[in-house]
Amino acid sequence: MEERIRTMICRFVEESPAGRFPENGDPYFDEPLVGYASADDPLFGDYKQIIGEFHRTPHEVMEIGFGTGVRAATVISWILPITQPTRESNRRETLYPSAAWARTRNFGEQFNAALRRHVTEWLAEQGHHAVAPQLETTWREYADTPIGRASTWSERHAAYAAGLGTFSLNDALITPRGIAHRCGSVITDLLLEPSPRPYPDHYHNCLYYREKSCGACIGRCPVGAISPQGHNKDICSHYVYGTAVTAVAERFGVTHTGCGLCQTKVPCEGSIPVGSAKAGRARP
Ligand code: SF4
Ligand code: SF4
Repeated sequence: MEERIRTMICRFVEESPAGRFPENGDPYFDEPLVGYASADDPLFGDYKQIIGEFHRTPHEVMEIGFGTGVRAATVISWILPITQPTRESNRRETLYPSAAWARTRNFGEQFNAALRRHVTEWLAEQGHHAVAPQLETTWREYADTPIGRASTWSERHAAYAAGLGTFSLNDALITPRGIAHRCGSVITDLLLEPSPRPYPDHYHNCLYYREKSCGACIGRCPVGAISPQGHNKDICSHYVYGTAVTAVAERFGVTHTGCGLCQTKVPCEGSIPVGSAKAGRARP
């Protein structure tokens, strides 16, 4: 069943016309990565301490969707890797995202929402209960929490629990297909085998944390939101949801632009960086 679900997700991404740039038919995303986490994984309880009490467990989301009679069993999580041409276009930018990056953030994320709906409907057709936390009507995003902008369900944290990557200096998730991606998830009462978390710690894929090297994302940020101390979500949010939108959204025909400069032209852009202190990378 795990492989059937992975195939269903990959097929939707490959075949759906909504997953392509209307101007040239190129896809927004490459083949997805798919992972599974147990709804009983203690990590989801830990997230209430790490993110905030407002962050929901899979059981809480399922209860909101279906009442107490349905028990969550699995979180299905996916990574949608942003294609190389779009990443290359953003590498050339130093202030605002490229048009292709902004359109992927805007229309690609709308497609990601369609994928969430598709997965829940497919599971329902198979006789299972399923809910997409980000499409659930009480899902909320808060601009000001003790850790900055945060929501009642973090797709990145679900992806980490499902073994799809580890966190990074710039607060993103570095997966086997890199850091430049969108991610999504659906919670179901279908019991699936959890994916292994093949990393020794939750920062392992980031060179800065693994071997005290790199730091390339620090220099890529146009507003100084990244430092050796980490990612300042307030500065970043102000830029991504304010300055960048004002500057280029209308020209690109979108309402959301993203930014992603710190996710392109960096060693972790499209894969887990190998890294090596011997290669001469120095901590900035
Ligand atoms: S650019 Fe380097 S320091 Fe920044 S997230 Fe990627 S691997 Fe980590
Ligand atoms: S998304 Fe943009 S503003 Fe935010 S940290 Fe990365 S480069 Fe800086």
